[in-house]
Amino acid sequence: MTVAITLAYLAAAVLFILGLKQLSSPKGARNGNFTAAAGMVIALIATIPLLRFTAAGAAIIGIGVVIGGIVGTVGARMVKMTAIPQMVALFNGVGGGAAALVAVAELLHFGNHPAFTVAFPSVFSIVIGSISFAGSMVAFAKLQELMTGTPITYPSQQLVNGLLAAAIVGFVIAVLAIASVPFSYLSLMILALVLGVAFVLPIGGADMPVVISLLNAFTGLAVAASGFTLNNFALIVAGTLVGASGSLLTKLMSDAMGRSLANVLFGAFGQLHKGGAAAAGKEGRSVRSASAEDLGTLLAYSRRVIIVPGYGLAVAQAQHAVRELAELLEKRGVEVSYAIHPVAGRMPGHMNVLLAEANVPYEQLKEMDEINDEFKNADVVLVVGANDVVNPAARSSPGSPIYGMPILNADQAKNIVFMKRSMRPGFAGIDNELLYDPKTIMFFGDAKDSLTKLVNAVKAA
Ligand code: NDP
Repeated sequence: MTVAITLAYLAAAVLFILGLKQLSSPKGARNGNFTAAAGMVIALIATIPLLRFTAAGAAIIGIGVVIGGIVGTVGARMVKMTAIPQMVALFNGVGGGAAALVAVAELLHFGNHPAFTVAFPSVFSIVIGSISFAGSMVAFAKLQELMTGTPITYPSQQLVNGLLAAAIVGFVIAVLAIASVPFSYLSLMILALVLGVAFVLPIGGADMPVVISLLNAFTGLAVAASGFTLNNFALIVAGTLVGASGSLLTKLMSDAMGRSLANVLFGAFGQLHKGGAAAAGKEGRSVRSASAEDLGTLLAYSRRVIIVPGYGLAVAQAQHAVRELAELLEKRGVEVSYAIHPVAGRMPGHMNVLLAEANVPYEQLKEMDEINDEFKNADVVLVVGANDVVNPAARSSPGSPIYGMPILNADQAKNIVFMKRSMRPGFAGIDNELLYDPKTIMFFGDAKDSLTKLVNAVKAA
């Protein structure tokens, strides 16, 4: 039986790794989810023979599985794509909390003086799992707008957080060296929960997904530590994979924003700066706009068009309309591609998922590094509901909160068509000089309506 279980766990581990590999490209992402889920089903089934529980215990587990299954399925089916970051935060948080509770249960089971090999990973799991739980709940509340999404700061905040972290380290050493009693686990958990809240409060704005990814990595580590406590190979592998991939994603996301991870975590980014949202559009400067007919003619007689999709495309659910316009242009011999910024939208891969849903061919989706030199050859760049990812302030305004973030070179195209509803800024809350560029033409309105008008105008051109 043990050999069979080990082999099943090995199969599950292989499927997790294959799933992750498939997730690294939009083409394989959907199958990657199924592959990893199959691995999880195998791991769960293989674990059942290991369980030793009473009838009451079995009933509690059964009720938990049913409630969790229903909440997870309904939640995942109903969630809007733009709300996925907060759903990930919620699910990730309960994972970390569960790992912490399992560790407490295991320590209570082993009595006052558990072996170091049990006590150490358990205490680690309690601390990291509790930080992840509390931090993820704050992240969820911020993204769901249950509380302000901007950083909450106060004087000496980093010092307070540092003291909390030091207190936790001291407590851990005391628990391991002197006494392991239920009271000490509870105190450790409370301290870690407070640190989790305090850690995420000063983070805000566009940095939230980065912190969610980091907390995801924390949950992975807490789960891996639970694996050591329970001597469970599948938990160790799954937790380590989540920890490693979460850490890599965190690094990739902060790189894509042109920021260091330390700056993301401790820089209190996302506060409104002078000249930011409040000032946007107030200066009364004029912008150029054009009718759908004029833009339809411009597009229809172009040789090269680059589409820059952004968050507004997702809000308007305009992915099918943009594909229709692109297909129409291609039929007329226009070369069309999509420029995908790594942080366009509100989650990693947001634009890829959205455009894949509308069956836009993968070959037309170009990553930023791949397409940035092409903008100067484009007759028109069509910015559909994007803003920050083309904002030249990232290059030229050292005081700007997005300064240093690599952007798409939309400003180099011969004509820039901005499709948005107003002059309001994007996520970072800062004005965009590109809207006032003499080459820019504004086409105001909901992206889906505007694209439909352009489709009709191109047909008539
Ligand atoms: P932005 O948030 O900068 O801009 C989106 C624009 O879309 C707005 O200016 C808005 O203008 C417009 N818009 C909104 N709704 C509609 C609609 N229905 N029709 C037409 N336009 C609409 O988006 P970007 O994609 O350019 O940049 C992403 C930002 O989000 C970056 O700052 C990034 O750092 C941040 N971020 C990214 C995450 C990620 O992982 N991808 C996660 C979290 C944040 P108007 O209101 O005038 O219509």
